Amino acid sequence: EESLIEVESLTVTYDTPDGDVHALRDISLSLDRGETLGIAGESGSGKSTLALALLDYLDENGRITSGSIRYDGRRIHDLSADELRALRGNRLAHVPQDPNTALNPALRVGEQITETIREHTDKTTRAAQERLYELLETVQIGDAAYTADQYPHELSGGMQQRVLIAMALSCDPDLLILDEPTTGLDVTTQATVLDLVRDLNESFNTTIVLITHDLSVIANTCERAMILYAGEVMETGSVSQVFNSPTHPYTQGLLAAVPRIRDERTMNSVPGRTPALAEIPEGCVFADRCAFSTADCRTAPIDMTAVDADGEAPHRTRCCHWEDAVSDPIEPETV
Ligand code: ATP
Ligand code: MG
Repeated sequence: EESLIEVESLTVTYDTPDGDVHALRDISLSLDRGETLGIAGESGSGKSTLALALLDYLDENGRITSGSIRYDGRRIHDLSADELRALRGNRLAHVPQDPNTALNPALRVGEQITETIREHTDKTTRAAQERLYELLETVQIGDAAYTADQYPHELSGGMQQRVLIAMALSCDPDLLILDEPTTGLDVTTQATVLDLVRDLNESFNTTIVLITHDLSVIANTCERAMILYAGEVMETGSVSQVFNSPTHPYTQGLLAAVPRIRDERTMNSVPGRTPALAEIPEGCVFADRCAFSTADCRTAPIDMTAVDADGEAPHRTRCCHWEDAVSDPIEPETV
């Protein structure tokens, strides 16, 4: 079967007052229809940039400077403006990171959802209204009529997140990208939003890309995982490969720190700091923080290595010392 999305060695560059910065470098990924991929990484690692690149929706000063993105085998670069609009309107949907900027504060929830439906379909007002209630039911909003009548600020964070998901679903997307859908929600609400995401995947075979700081969210929701650091993929594979047999010292460090991550909702638990984009080192981007690094980590860019090509998913890592890391892994500190 052909992949739904195929990303090949993608570089995304932002034009900044200090010159060009490459916020994503050498990103490759392939997703089949119905797969669920979780993308994790510290703040600034490029998660939202990747989401926006996949939607061809980068900020004005951002652009793809090398590599390609294909949907059903077609490069998005080669699509006309109309085809791109159709792709975005009918196939791809996005729940952006910040619900407050994504919802119009001046419009009642029902109005904004029906407006989105009418933008993307040729449904009559009446049919759009029916679809609205269907969608609110799909995202498990109990009292749909009541919620439809509310303004966004009158809703809880969890309800706002559901409304955004309902809007994203209004075009029956093949691919749904959720950017930090559970950040800022209490644990119970997080769980119900993630249940909903799993349901969508199971009931409609929607392909899911779920972005989060929280590794446990990925472990509970996704089949595949991708760990980003400073704009590069450090490790990728099935959730069980990456979480149970991590090969990259960064992944190992993150997993060793998981209990602390949960408390602080941050991933800065591996000692040291991420390099600034303007000062990306020559070799491995993680070398300065890595217990396994040697001089040869710093001389040339590190390519992805196939750890297990025959497993349930391609398991790949960007580390020349991964075999050492596997035989003597970074363990949680025992106190
Ligand atoms: P967070 O977890 O905080 O949401 P993120 O992983 O989503 O972070 P991005 O928002 O993709 O990270 O940002 C990646 C890098 O690109 C950061 O260094 C950020 O400062 C930079 N960046 C993002 N948008 C722009 C822009 N429009 N212009 C210049 N730099 C940008
Ligand atoms: Mg982000």
